Amino acid sequence: GELAELEARVSVCRACPRLVEWREDVAVGKRKSFADQPYWGRPIPGWGVAEPRILIVGLAPAANGGNRTGRVFTGDRSGDWLFASLHRVGLANQATSEHAGDGLHLIGTRMIAAVRCAPPANKPTPEERDTCAPWYRRELELTLPSASSIVCLGKFAYDALLAALTALGADVPRPRPKFGHAVEYRIPTPYGEVTVLGCFHPSQQNTFTGKLTERMLDAVLLRAKTLSG
Ligand code: SF4
Repeated sequence: GELAELEARVSVCRACPRLVEWREDVAVGKRKSFADQPYWGRPIPGWGVAEPRILIVGLAPAANGGNRTGRVFTGDRSGDWLFASLHRVGLANQATSEHAGDGLHLIGTRMIAAVRCAPPANKPTPEERDTCAPWYRRELELTLPSASSIVCLGKFAYDALLAALTALGADVPRPRPKFGHAVEYRIPTPYGEVTVLGCFHPSQQNTFTGKLTERMLDAVLLRAKTLSG
């Protein structure tokens, strides 16, 4: 279908020179613990079900996480946290993810990164974000019709989502509603109404310090599940 076509097109994109170099350097250099594994080293398309009730959006894949496995939010500590929670609330079939052939799948859910290539220091430039935005908008266009909620992992993901929704003609309030953990806003879009949910990013910085607990993460994902009916 159209999602598969989008995936095929994005997977060969080389529009951001800095990110192309980084994603490929990391894939060639490889972290020691993954030295025996193939790295994806290319743009990461969204993954999960084709007609999701729930979207989970982030900013960009991690160099040794998504950039290795080819699936965003897997293969690193943040992904471990996220998938443990997704499994607890019934949105993933297993709690852990090791590599692309591990049998993991999402239930009623699709995950998308606003920027498709792993950036150095996990930080895309504003220009890179804008260059990748058409890919993001296209995937949202194709998945919003079935989606009832969108969980944003972190403020950067939230900002990128609201920018994309605005560009797609959604009725995003002005000034933009504030990001926070467990905030929720109903936003009418040309593809139907969605509830946007804020969630602190499951980064080690947030999970080590207790800013984000398992219970807090589960609560937001459960809320998304409830909204999806
Ligand atoms: Fe292409 Fe997006 Fe990767 Fe830039 S970040 S090279 S626009 S897929």
